[in-house]
Amino acid sequence: MIEVNGLRKSFGEVDILRGVALSVDRGEVAAIIGPSGSGKSTFLRCLNGLERFDAGRVEIDGLVLRGRSEIPASGWARLHREVCRRVGMVFQGFNLFPHRTALENVMEGPIYVLGVNREVAENRARRLLDRVGMSDRLHAMPRELSGGQQQRVAIARALAMEPRAILFDEPTSALDPRMTAEVLAVMSDLAGDGLTMIAVTHAMHFARRVANTVHVFGEGRVIESGPPEQIFDDPREEATRILLSSVQAA
Ligand code: ADP
Ligand code: MG
Repeated sequence: MIEVNGLRKSFGEVDILRGVALSVDRGEVAAIIGPSGSGKSTFLRCLNGLERFDAGRVEIDGLVLRGRSEIPASGWARLHREVCRRVGMVFQGFNLFPHRTALENVMEGPIYVLGVNREVAENRARRLLDRVGMSDRLHAMPRELSGGQQQRVAIARALAMEPRAILFDEPTSALDPRMTAEVLAVMSDLAGDGLTMIAVTHAMHFARRVANTVHVFGEGRVIESGPPEQIFDDPREEATRILLSSVQAA
């Protein structure tokens, strides 16, 4: 479903991604772990077309993105729209529309981007908010919701676009342990339903329990990939061992 090869990206003189390669099957849950500043967020932004990259190839369910020099600016706008429809994104900071209720936040994309009629969009939004355990707060404004509740609305909003995959960028790192557990429970539930997911996360217990594959980022590359048991219990790379011991110490 997602195949990345030789992805390179620099900001000015600094090489941030130096040839990332990774693939994710349909229905797979991939966790990405890595030190702060190793390019994880930049990588997700390249995957969903928020950021153009310098070289390499990204394929998402048949749609191919290439480096800057291979896709003219005029062709990029169309590709960007296509990729946004295929890949949902959930951010650390929730990013809900502040002046819309939970229900409206989830209805907006389908109505204005997909052209779905209001009644259909509302029914779907109610169903999705129920799925993330928010059916009793449909008319609440984001400021009236806890961080965990806002993040669950953000997940419903991403699902409402019927994406082929959802990317999560540290979705629980702004949350306390109880709210973290609420959000991780929703993510586990979606994984159980076969949603294809890539999650950048510090929640190692989640990665161990829910991910099919863990990818370790370091110095702009994937330095090691494997099933959670292998990465956590028997890492091959020294950098992985250092990362895991720093997390356990924290
Ligand atoms: P991570 O998510 O792994 O912490 P990021 O992808 O956010 O890492 O950032 C990787 C590096 O790229 C950091 O050093 C960051 O300062 C730099 N960076 C990220 N975005 C930009 C940008 N728009 N302009 C310049 N530098 C950036
Ligand atoms: Mg980040």
